[in-house]
Amino acid sequence: MFSRLSEKLGDIAHKLRGAARVSEADLDATLREMRLALLEADVALPVTRHLMSEVRERALGAEVAKSLQPGQVIIKILNDVLADVLGGQRRDLDLAKIPSVILLCGLQGAGKTTTAGKLARLLASQGKKVALTSVDATRPAAREQLQVLAGQVDVPYISGEGSTAAKMAKSAVKQAGSEGLHVLILDTAGRQVVDDELMAEIKDVADTVAASERLLVLDSMTGQTALQIAEQFHAAVNMSGCVLTKTDADVRGGAALSVAHSTGVAIRYVGTGEKIDAFEAFDPQRMAGRILGQGDVVGLVEKIQSSVDEEQAKKAAAKIKKGQFDLEDFAEQLGQMQNMGGMASMLKMMPGMKLPQEALDQMDDKPMKRMQAMVYSMTPKERKYPKLLNGSRKRRVAMGSGTSVPELNRMLKQFGQMQRMMKKMKGGKGKRMMAQMMG
Ligand code: GDP
Repeated sequence: MFSRLSEKLGDIAHKLRGAARVSEADLDATLREMRLALLEADVALPVTRHLMSEVRERALGAEVAKSLQPGQVIIKILNDVLADVLGGQRRDLDLAKIPSVILLCGLQGAGKTTTAGKLARLLASQGKKVALTSVDATRPAAREQLQVLAGQVDVPYISGEGSTAAKMAKSAVKQAGSEGLHVLILDTAGRQVVDDELMAEIKDVADTVAASERLLVLDSMTGQTALQIAEQFHAAVNMSGCVLTKTDADVRGGAALSVAHSTGVAIRYVGTGEKIDAFEAFDPQRMAGRILGQGDVVGLVEKIQSSVDEEQAKKAAAKIKKGQFDLEDFAEQLGQMQNMGGMASMLKMMPGMKLPQEALDQMDDKPMKRMQAMVYSMTPKERKYPKLLNGSRKRRVAMGSGTSVPELNRMLKQFGQMQRMMKKMKGGKGKRMMAQMMG
């Protein structure tokens, strides 16, 4: 699914990666390319429009942290907007009730029966006591198909009694309750097209059993039609989510984006093949990442945006300018680097930074942590005036930080050099450079 869209959007994102400047005209050009990519992928026009305007608005209002490049920030925005359109946060099924009923609806051939089997297998593997039942009152063959599938995935099949779908459903739920089952997956009849009779029947079943989840099974290959089908089912039954099937065969993926956004029916699972284990929980965030193929940049931006305290960075930069950068500031900066996952993980995520894995493995954040420990073992006064550190004070600091006096001396010497270097740069060209590095 999404392979073509992913290819196109991935290209666009790739071009943006290193961009140090993104003017409004650049942004417009990028948005035009995106629009084409989305329409080609069969994403419905209103959804495409929404996506575009959302990206544009957020991009123009975005603040770019000094340590990031505008291109990277736009990729992150694109990623967030895609994830939002795909449904935002992943939501697990609500299976609190015992037994919980999961109602599956959809057109014939959408993959309902297959999905029932796949879902039963998945939930059983998560330790739930699951049973399957079909309430297709008119097609015994459909019930048999599910019964065979139940055998294959090794969960019980319950035959509901009664002359109507609602009666069969009621009796199956009752039996599931008396057997202490956690979940009953209820497959309903499908038709070739949506008709009033089908809708009335499903509504009747849904009302009778008070289903915890009402999932619409949608064939992703139906493209734009999927949207209409979803709207009709949703109007009748108030779907709590949908399962998109045959995503393995769908290269465009437009249906997924359109359905989730236009109907508000979130995708909860996707079928990824004919085999019984070709089924996965749908995670909008992860899917957005996969579509753009820019997980590293997105991760970098997230880390920097969440861990760099801009105020603190500005304060540090101002202190450098005044030649007042002391050990306390030094320790704070070290702490920020650690918040970002240490040197190796920072470098790994930098676009264009290709260091061999060996070099990254050797990069060690321990010295950084030790330096920080030494500074934090000093009194506030000592941090401001390291000259106060005589022999006995040094021994105390070394003891307190689990280091040694020679190591402390080395650190103080390094810090002294750094401070002198900063003082020299103060006022010169280096001022900006340093402020940038720190901010
Ligand atoms: P129902 O009429 O809605 O119950 O549909 P079925 O469960 O009988 O499925 C119809 C066809 O779609 C069968 O041939 C399934 O093997 C196939 N199918 C279902 N889900 C998937 C899927 O995720 N990928 C692929 N490739 N085929 C699927």
